[in-house]
Amino acid sequence: MLFERLCIIGPGLIGGSIARMAKARGDIARHIVATAQSEATRARVRELGFVDEVAETPEEAVQGADCVILCIPVGAYAEVMRRIAPHLAPGSILTDVGSTKGSVVRDVLPLLPKGVHFIPGHPMAGTEFSGPDAGFATLFEGRYCILTPLEGTDPAALEKVRTLWERAGSMVETMDVATHDKVVAMVSHLPHLIAFTICGTADDLAEETREAVLKYAASGFRDFTRIAASDVAMWRDIFLNNREALLEMLARFTEDAQALGRAVRWGQAEFIEDRIRRGRRIRRGLIERNQA
Ligand code: NAP
Repeated sequence: MLFERLCIIGPGLIGGSIARMAKARGDIARHIVATAQSEATRARVRELGFVDEVAETPEEAVQGADCVILCIPVGAYAEVMRRIAPHLAPGSILTDVGSTKGSVVRDVLPLLPKGVHFIPGHPMAGTEFSGPDAGFATLFEGRYCILTPLEGTDPAALEKVRTLWERAGSMVETMDVATHDKVVAMVSHLPHLIAFTICGTADDLAEETREAVLKYAASGFRDFTRIAASDVAMWRDIFLNNREALLEMLARFTEDAQALGRAVRWGQAEFIEDRIRRGRRIRRGLIERNQA
């Protein structure tokens, strides 16, 4: 058994999937406790029964836990940390699943009690759905999980968090916080920004055209709408908390998009073909790595 008492703060898509995975395996934690901010979610989690106990408050939930996982939007970390810090058990592990890591370290570290091991993490798995009903035990199978351990991290604590994700079926990689934030800005945050924008642009079209856009949405637009269906609070918080890296990638993207637009304007077929070929190559690379 990896942990005696595992505490999940925020049993939504990710937290609920961790809890279901832990219950299904039976070798992660002897007792699983969760808490959510709303009474409605706490009641639903009780009903779904994928944890042993639902606590009313985060303060109560972390009592005596040897591992606490923050599974809440990254904008809520500072406030939740202020509440739980005095109640974290000495020697326990605090980890998380947040999509940004610079902001998480910024918000957690100053409030971290001495003797609590903090291991930031980010499972690169998810869907466009959210809430406790959306989770499932196999979500992390075959997906990467990135850990961004800080200087002086206790190797035993790091090993435990690595084991947790390996048992969930993930491939675990470690990297520094800044590299993580740049990589996810490119592979996740920028694509979401583009998807929200495309849907907004389509929505701005005159009523008649918009109807036609929705009616004939071919797979291109349809794929963007799937990404754009994501949770509002989560994505607001990601954009606001990975600002520098996201803006850097957006600037590069804008330049490249303009270059392609220019090639279209001037009829530069070769340039256009080259861009399409690159896209096809990248897609093939993903398929070969089993990440498609
Ligand atoms: P979710 O399904 O919306 O669940 C969020 C959970 O956090 C809910 O239980 C919610 O409780 C709770 N919560 C929200 N605001 C809170 C607050 N201010 N204080 C305390 N609890 C709060 O979200 P998710 O998709 O699992 O995402 C959770 C984290 O995982 C985020 O940091 C996200 O960046 C990261 N992540 C997401 C994905 C993805 O694809 N979805 C992938 C990797 C990482 P209530 O229901 O009561 O509000």
